[in-house]
Order: sequence, then C-alpha cells, then structure tokens
Amino acid sequence: MIKTKIFEIDDLSTSKDKIKEAADLLIKGGTVAFPTETVYGLGANALDEEAVAKIFKAKGRPSDNPLIVHISKIEQLYELVESVPPIAEKLIERFWPGPITLIMKKSNNVPDIITAGLDTVAIRMPSHAIAKEIIDMAKLPIAAPSANLSGKPSPTKASHVIKDLNGKVDGIVSGGSSQVGLESTVLDITLEIPMILRPGGITKEDLEQVLERVEIDPGIEGVTSDDVTPRAPGMKYTHYSPQADVIIVSGKVDEIVPKIIELTKQKQKEGKKVGIMCTDETKNKYMNGIVYSMGSREKIETIATKLFDTLRQFDEEDVDLIFAEGIDRKSVGHAIMNRMIKAAGYNVIKSGR
Ligand code: AMP
Ligand code: MG
Repeated sequence: MIKTKIFEIDDLSTSKDKIKEAADLLIKGGTVAFPTETVYGLGANALDEEAVAKIFKAKGRPSDNPLIVHISKIEQLYELVESVPPIAEKLIERFWPGPITLIMKKSNNVPDIITAGLDTVAIRMPSHAIAKEIIDMAKLPIAAPSANLSGKPSPTKASHVIKDLNGKVDGIVSGGSSQVGLESTVLDITLEIPMILRPGGITKEDLEQVLERVEIDPGIEGVTSDDVTPRAPGMKYTHYSPQADVIIVSGKVDEIVPKIIELTKQKQKEGKKVGIMCTDETKNKYMNGIVYSMGSREKIETIATKLFDTLRQFDEEDVDLIFAEGIDRKSVGHAIMNRMIKAAGYNVIKSGR
C-alpha cells in the first residue's frame, strides 16, 4: 500500500499550492490522478520509464497497451515526434486543447514503455484547467491513461478514482466531474487517409469539417468480438465492465422498452436482481428492477457524460445483470455504443422481429 495524498480543488485560483504539490509528486517520479475534460487520468512523467511503469502496475494494465502523452504547450509536441505533418497543424488549430488524441511518428525521446514498442506515439493537449495547470507546473509531458483499474468503467468523478486506486498511487486530485465523460477520440494521422482508431467526443462529422477524408478502423465497428483486429492495441480488450453482466437491447425505442420489461420479468422469476439502464425518455415505463437513466436521447451528450457513472452505480446496487437500452449511433452516439458494446462483452439482443 502507498499512502495516497488527496488534493481537493474547489477553486483553482486559490489552490495553486495544492497543484504545485501534485506537480512535485510527478517531477519526483510519482503517480498522480487528475481530472481532464474526457475522464480522470492517471499521470506520470512520460520521459521517466520507472515512473511510467508505476502506472501499468497501479492499473493492472497489459504492457502491450500504449499510453497517451498529455501536453499543455505546443512546444512540447516537437520534442515528442519526428515531425509535425501539415494535417496535424490543421487539426491542432481546430481541436486542441480538447478531446482528440493524434497518433504521429515518435521521436527518440519517447521511451518504448509508452508506445509498447510501436514507432508511433499518441499525444493530446487537454482543455481542463486543472489538467493544464498540473502539466504546466510539472513542465513535463505526462503519460496519463484513464485512472481506473484496467477493465473497469473509466472514472468521471474523483470518487471513482478513489474507489479503484486509493493506496495504489501517490496522489489524487479531486476536481469535479469530467464534462465529456468518454475517453478522447484517437486519430491516426500517419496513414494516407486519417483513421479513427477510437471514437470519442470529437465525431467523424466534426473531423470532416477540417479533413477531406476520414476513415473509421473497421476493427472497432464490429458487434462481435471475432471481427478484424483493431489497430489501437487497447481496443481489443474487454472494458468498462461493472460486476454484473450487461446485456444491450437494441432496435427502435418503442420495441426496446417492452422487450426489456419482458426480459426483466423472466429474470426476476429466476430470482435474479435486475438493473435497467435506460434514458430520461423511457424511465417512467419501467415498474420493476433497479432503474437508472443514462441521460436524454434528445441531448445525447448527457448520455456520454453519465454513461460510466451509471455503470458504476449498478455496482453499488449489487445487481446480477443489467439490461441496457441501445442508443442511435449518430454523432457521439457512435462512441457511446462502442463503449456499451464492450461493457456488454458483445452481448446484444435485437428487439422487434
Ligand atoms: P487510455 O489511455 O486508457 O485512454 O487508452 C489509450 C488508447 O490509445 C488505447 O486504446 C491505446 O491502445 C491507444 N494508443 C495509444 N498509443 C497508440 C499508438 N501509438 N498507436 C495506436 N494506438 C495507440
Ligand atoms: Mg482506459
């Protein structure tokens, strides 16, 4: 067990001393979790192999899953990559700081442990004020995967991080909820046509405002686990799993609801404790089971923000299984369904006939 120091930040302008203390832990080779606009990240000095190794250990992360390096100033980028292609400049101008990670050819400064031996590196500049301040004060590029135990839903609140990593990391900066709620979009720009390796808050449509062509990795589009291997090593793992089994019921909303009601009754007869992960629009239709809404279908970003928190809420209730309503794959719905299908281990039932 490590003694984990918790830094409570209510108001950043009066908390510079706490941020400095957290940054000092990073400078000394420690691990510190902090909020970003996507999810909470677990940071360490990206240039220090021993420090980075502590991230893998604390999370139980497989060593073949490379990390994203976070920067706060554009100058830091030039140290980490071989060159910055013109397309990167366009994307950076439009989307940084923000929830998109760019894959570029790495420079020799980046240790192999970060990239899992690949010759490319993933880089992002977060927009969250606390994340920016910590990276600024540390004056270092910071490797920071999501601050959860590997396999668990990503943390969007400090309480999630404390549950997973208290006693395993040197510091946790507690600074409210992550606004986006899903991990960054990962875009590979080393390919002739840029490719989305992980869908996120910045959608294909957003990217098409800047890029002529964008592809989506066919390896992440599948609804079964035995399709093409994804290009991002991390996308092959099961993920986001609460203790209970998750079963997605997909189709039209007015067919999903009666299907879930029927399945719930059936499982309850078998003596199971059933959770229902629904939406604001359908919440009142369920009379049985433990019912939590992920947010509104009309305001799909609210579902992105609350998805992981809702999955974790069912853990508190100790349900045996969770029926989750499928979401339309438009805009950020694409990223939401990607995470839900992984949480469900590809267990999807179609409603209707
Ligand atoms: P996380 O840090 O937990 O948000 O996960 C980072 C994601 O980015 C994982 O899916 C990684 O496999 C992916 N990733 C990181 N670096 C690279 C890279 N150089 N090439 C392809 N995917 C990467
Ligand atoms: Mg993660």
